[in-house]
Amino acid sequence: MARSNGVAKLDKTEYPRTMRGDAGFWLTFRDGAPQHLQRIYTAAHERSVFGALCLKDKTLRTRVVSTSSRGADRWLTAYPAHPTHQLTDAYYGMAVRARLDLPPADDLPPSCKCGESPSSPAGHVHWCRKVRQRPTIMRHNVIISALNNVARAAGLTTHVEVTQPSDPGAREAERLRPDIRLDGALRSILTDVTISHPLAPSALQPNTEDDSIANIERSARNKSHKYAELADSFGIDLLPFATDVYGALGKQALELDLCGGDREWPRHHQRREG
Ligand SMILES: [Zn+2]
Repeated sequence: MARSNGVAKLDKTEYPRTMRGDAGFWLTFRDGAPQHLQRIYTAAHERSVFGALCLKDKTLRTRVVSTSSRGADRWLTAYPAHPTHQLTDAYYGMAVRARLDLPPADDLPPSCKCGESPSSPAGHVHWCRKVRQRPTIMRHNVIISALNNVARAAGLTTHVEVTQPSDPGAREAERLRPDIRLDGALRSILTDVTISHPLAPSALQPNTEDDSIANIERSARNKSHKYAELADSFGIDLLPFATDVYGALGKQALELDLCGGDREWPRHHQRREG
């Protein structure tokens, strides 16, 4: 809740409340401050500011939830020692603009092929019925390429776009083409990339989840369901790589931790039972 002067009010239940009076602070902490006290206050303050800012702005809330979720900022903190961890200045600029919900460039034409503005809302190109096909395929392929590069750097063997089994009984599987098969010394995994835009009109429909992370998990479940039979026919596991344009990752995408190399990969994944 924001006070009339615009300062966010802290949630009283989130942090130690100091007693009233001049000596209140010292009485509250006479036995010493709890561990991580500054972090507790800072986190409560940030939550309050976030709530105040997003009270009437659903799109801001959605974007902040995505960009502040676990793993969404990895591209900002990865040490660029390897070519697979490097972005050109142009791509870095575009990535930052996307994170800030700005149009991809300042010099976009005044109107899109569909007749609407290509820059307002900034993500128009991601869902425009006239022009979205090429950029959405590109964003999909860029992620597949990045996964492939990182997996190879980690010592895994990769196969992009696995051909389905030739089992004539597997009719449902005939049209299925998961994006990558990753083979390590101890384990193999199929993964399929799915990318969403949490501010796309389809994602903002009243009947959809009011949570970008929940929408990502729903996409991952759809992928799991779609490829379950195929993964079983290969006898290997499936980890959907579900993400959104702000970098938020689904739980299974986070499990696909390739940074440990072949020996530890995937670090947290347990093979399905049954
Ligand atoms: Zn358009």
